[in-house]
Amino acid sequence: MAEKKLSAEKLKFFEDLIRAELKESMAYIESITKEQSVGSRESSGDLSSYAYHQADQGSDTQSMEHSVMMMETEREKIRNLNDAMRRLHDGRFGFCEMCGEEILSARLQMIPYATLCIDCKEKMETKKRKQRR
Ligand SMILES: [Zn+2]
Repeated sequence: MAEKKLSAEKLKFFEDLIRAELKESMAYIESITKEQSVGSRESSGDLSSYAYHQADQGSDTQSMEHSVMMMETEREKIRNLNDAMRRLHDGRFGFCEMCGEEILSARLQMIPYATLCIDCKEKMETKKRKQRR
């Protein structure tokens, strides 16, 4: 395959962007963790079963479940961002994993950890929708 690379400015730009997002996500998780340790002294690692056992405590649980969900989303995001950082360093960043085309900068600015171009992403979604039926 032809050696394609993003320009140094672009790489720098996305590196900063990924770093900033990582920082934000980590600060967010930290703030939730603090909130939770104030709410309960129990620090079971299994948050999903924790939420389940508290299921009869009403609105408290809902916000608890909500923050657990938000935390999962943020954790996932951090994983994705770290992956993106790795790709950035080995030169795969910014190219579609399916077709190898450069991913639009506008898309990467919104989702810096995107690994598919819009076309391939849409194809994947269509496929997933079909599989669900
Ligand atoms: Zn593609």
